[in-house]
Amino acid sequence: MRSNLKIIVLSLLFIAFYQFLWSVDCEICKNKIKAGVSFYRVKSKTYCSKKCLRKTLPKCSVCKKHSDKIYRKEGKEYCKPCIIAAAPKCSICKVTTFGKSFLKKENTIYCTEKCYLTTIAECVLCKKKELGMSKIENTHYCSKCIKLPQCNSCSLISNEQMQLDGRQICTSCLTYGIQSQNDAYKIYIEVKELLKSKFNIETTVGLPMKIVDMDEMKRIKEDNNSQERGLYHVSRLIRHKVIKQGDVIIKREKIETKATRNIYILTYLPKRDFIKVAAHELMHDWVALNYPKLKEEKICEGLSEYLSSLVNIHYGNDKLNLRMEKNKNPIYGGGYRFIKLKDKGGGIVDIKNWLQKTYNQ
Ligand SMILES: [Zn+2]
Ligand SMILES: [Zn+2]
Ligand SMILES: [Zn+2]
Ligand SMILES: [Zn+2]
Ligand SMILES: [Zn+2]
Ligand SMILES: [Zn+2]
Repeated sequence: MRSNLKIIVLSLLFIAFYQFLWSVDCEICKNKIKAGVSFYRVKSKTYCSKKCLRKTLPKCSVCKKHSDKIYRKEGKEYCKPCIIAAAPKCSICKVTTFGKSFLKKENTIYCTEKCYLTTIAECVLCKKKELGMSKIENTHYCSKCIKLPQCNSCSLISNEQMQLDGRQICTSCLTYGIQSQNDAYKIYIEVKELLKSKFNIETTVGLPMKIVDMDEMKRIKEDNNSQERGLYHVSRLIRHKVIKQGDVIIKREKIETKATRNIYILTYLPKRDFIKVAAHELMHDWVALNYPKLKEEKICEGLSEYLSSLVNIHYGNDKLNLRMEKNKNPIYGGGYRFIKLKDKGGGIVDIKNWLQKTYNQ
């Protein structure tokens, strides 16, 4: 009996010793894995459970869960559900763009061309919509219509135009453009009075204005390639005074008579363009009267363009200012942008102060 007990005790000790010798720690939770218990062995490391094994997998930076499939984006790691959630969505139908090609227009994302096209205006002429529409002063044109000629009067594109004194004029301008001297004069006087009352820009009293066609404009400007829609024209008659001593001429003196000032504006301009041109030409007159020595073309045209932009805003024709904003001509566009910078928020008063300081008069 005593020896039996001894055997049992010895056997138990042996089993305990065997288990102690064999047992191994889980790599993650450090628990001992007992003999006969299933475990995982990956790359000569031991894990007690699937849970512990998963902890060796990379971690999603958003949900902090471990995953065997991790996506990297901009230095961050994502599991699949999190990368789908983080991917940009179509701004229209809210579908994820994960793993799909998509369109990006002005920092907005669209899943397809179809979604994008819902956001844009149709071609003003043929009512079609397509990628790569062109825009002129917020009016949209498809790739086909943009190639149609531009009206020389309103600068817009149209599918019905006529040739007139070397100009392409759209039917709208032919119908509604200003054609009579009477109509033109009324608007001209309105603009002239607005300059005086609103901007304190006083121009020559009784300064004549005449509407002319392109042929006459070219003749007055003495420039056959002129595309000007308006002209401020100053002419001086030069007389010669002959100084005699007896019958002998000893000297001829040039005498300049008083300047004759005129404004010419092209026929068939739409009213909004006519107003703009009138304000521009009247500003030339104000500059000539107040700063007769100022001849820098860029400054003169810039001042005229700038004042006319303020007049456009007054009439709610802000759209026309986009044309000046984008005008690549260094004299007109460049001058406009240069003068605009002198306006620190005080409008025409700032421009007048700058003129005083710079041209010291
Ligand atoms: Zn474990
Ligand atoms: Zn996640
Ligand atoms: Zn969409
Ligand atoms: Zn079109
Ligand atoms: Zn037109
Ligand atoms: Zn000018």
